[in-house]
Amino acid sequence: MTTIRSWEFWGLPRAARATVLTIIAAAVMAVVAVGTTSDETGWLLVSVLAMACAVTEVINVGIGRTESRARTDRVEITVSTDSVWVFAAVVAAPLPGVVALAVALSLLVSVRDAFSTSDRVRIPLHRVVFNISMVVLSSTGAAVVIQTYAASPLGAYQGGLLVAALAGFAVMHLAESFLLGSVVSAHGGVGWRPFRELAFDWRGALAQCALGTLIGVAGSMDPFLVAAGVPIAMLLQRGLQHRQLVTALARDPKTGVASSSGWRDRAERELALSRSSNQPMGVAVVDIDHFKTVNDTHGHLLGDEVLKATAKALTSAVRDSDLVGRFGGDEFVVLFPQAGRAAVAEAGERLRAATAELAIEAPGLELPLRITTSVGLASYPRDGDQLHSLLEQADAALYDVKHTGRGRVSFALDPRSMTAPRNEGPAAEPRRA
Ligand code: GH3
Ligand code: MG
Repeated sequence: MTTIRSWEFWGLPRAARATVLTIIAAAVMAVVAVGTTSDETGWLLVSVLAMACAVTEVINVGIGRTESRARTDRVEITVSTDSVWVFAAVVAAPLPGVVALAVALSLLVSVRDAFSTSDRVRIPLHRVVFNISMVVLSSTGAAVVIQTYAASPLGAYQGGLLVAALAGFAVMHLAESFLLGSVVSAHGGVGWRPFRELAFDWRGALAQCALGTLIGVAGSMDPFLVAAGVPIAMLLQRGLQHRQLVTALARDPKTGVASSSGWRDRAERELALSRSSNQPMGVAVVDIDHFKTVNDTHGHLLGDEVLKATAKALTSAVRDSDLVGRFGGDEFVVLFPQAGRAAVAEAGERLRAATAELAIEAPGLELPLRITTSVGLASYPRDGDQLHSLLEQADAALYDVKHTGRGRVSFALDPRSMTAPRNEGPAAEPRRA
């Protein structure tokens, strides 16, 4: 009883719990319905498909770790190609075989994930059962569509298999996107956005279904031809991992905001857009004051917590369309698309205020830790028409703030400096190297 009470499932929001339970119940009903209406399983084909998937996944264990060693912070890359094998069964096996394979392979992938993700991440039981249910429902739906199509007069036309496989792919992908999207949405009340994002990310799913169709057709001629699909599935898995890695590199693993390269890519695109539409744009460079002292006094681990809290505060201080990134160390950057100079100045002040309000608590600290930040601003087109010149100007403004007391916001070489107007001295201080 105590073990059941300790399940992470009970910690989910009520709507998410209800959605997860509904989906699991629907999957159980589907299994019962399939089990009572047909007793043909195509066990030989299904067993060979299960073995082929196991070989591919076992070879893949640890690949995520290998990729992440290249970075100081962990990036987990876990891509499964179990859909290839499930879809081969969808195309070529009777419904009970599809269900049996869907259950077996989702379990296999959960076990593989438990071994290939970092030891800090434990996969909760409800997520394993939910994944199995999702795959059972989506693959059964796709198999019913394909079999209904094949049995109809349309199935006899040339190209019938292609149309049926495409319809099966659409059902499987949309069903998975919908089921997963509805749980994500039930977590945070974010409407249809998760479903749309999952549904639009269809390329990897289509590649897996296309390979699954080939393997299914080969397997229905001779089940042992399925083995030929293993090296192709492994190549596909590598390709999909590469895509995931590229996406992961756009995020800073420590704080979750955009990485330097991810931020620059988006900033270059926004700048091009601003140029072509004659719209303004702004950038801010935010640096924590005396961050070295935080590290030296409280250690790097607490320093990391300060970086995470700062990233969170900056993100919540700006609009959804603005982009916070980390350039490294304690330096953050913020992009303000389509924002005029006044709006950038206001936003810069919000960034400073949000970080000044932080009170970071940690074991061993008598009082919550407080920080201040210095903010340098630049706006397009006035301070520069290239990203590097805008960043240079914002950096110059930051340098100026750092040398005139810190904890303020300023535009570069602008007498109308924000929170404490700068005196117009005889000469600007030289920029730091
Ligand atoms: P200033 O007010 O002039 O900015 O002083 P500062 O002490 O903040 O100086 P600076 O910005 O140069 O210090 C950055 C420090 O951040 C130096 C480095 O040890 C530390 N640092 C860089 N990356 C990390 C990280 O990932 N985690 C932690 N905890 N510290 C980091
Ligand atoms: Mg600093």
